[in-house]
Amino acid sequence: MTNTIDDKTIVKDYFNATGFDRWRRIYGDGEVNKVQQDIRVGHQMTIDTVVGWLESDGNLSQISIADAGCGVGSLSIPLAKAGATVYASDISEKMVAEARERAEKALEDTSKLTLAVGDLEALTGKYHTVICLDVLIHYPTEDAAEMIAHLASLAESRLILSFAPKTCLLTVLKKIGEFFPGPSKTTRAYQHKEKDIVKILADNGFTIGRTSMTSTRFYYSRILEAVRTPAE
Ligand code: SAM
Repeated sequence: MTNTIDDKTIVKDYFNATGFDRWRRIYGDGEVNKVQQDIRVGHQMTIDTVVGWLESDGNLSQISIADAGCGVGSLSIPLAKAGATVYASDISEKMVAEARERAEKALEDTSKLTLAVGDLEALTGKYHTVICLDVLIHYPTEDAAEMIAHLASLAESRLILSFAPKTCLLTVLKKIGEFFPGPSKTTRAYQHKEKDIVKILADNGFTIGRTSMTSTRFYYSRILEAVRTPAE
């Protein structure tokens, strides 16, 4: 393991302070600047893609879902609204408190949604589907394998992950500071090669199902649905 402990403390502190203010606005509907608006639109496309996949399966009310690194509940709330039983957690108390407030406003019945503060690597239990959107950006590739292996161990049928893909174009954009604009607006951001993520998933017994790519000017997210490979 590399410096995950330090990275984690930095991420946690960030999402309990300036990061909380920034991301709560981006993941909200109030006024934001152009870059934040672009990221808001891109992120919502990622959420809509995943909710769309799950709704089209037609079994949402029968399945349990873990939303690991749930942020302000952008995914968990619509999934609970659509009838899924959702356990959502995040390392930042502030993000979870905001998610609670939003859930109380958005859901008539909050009993399907449990929100908790915690490191996703301390998550326990078994869930039909484990989802982890836009969190791998906080993990260096060396540590991603352990994190994904843990999430895989909780997933009975399916694991859905999204990450910023490491492509030449994105590497160039990141270098010229366009992808994560402005100094000190974010923590370190790690991109991942899709082949590395696919290999980690395969090593944990998962095969790729549906895939999608969300790209706007400032937001890039590759979404992979990985399903447990049936035993021969
Ligand atoms: N998944 C949410 C979404 O798509 O709306 C939030 C994405 S936000 C970019 C990243 C979130 O991951 C933050 O809320 C942060 O606190 C959380 N996070 C980062 N590392 C984490 C960890 N090790 N365990 C749990 N949450 C974590």
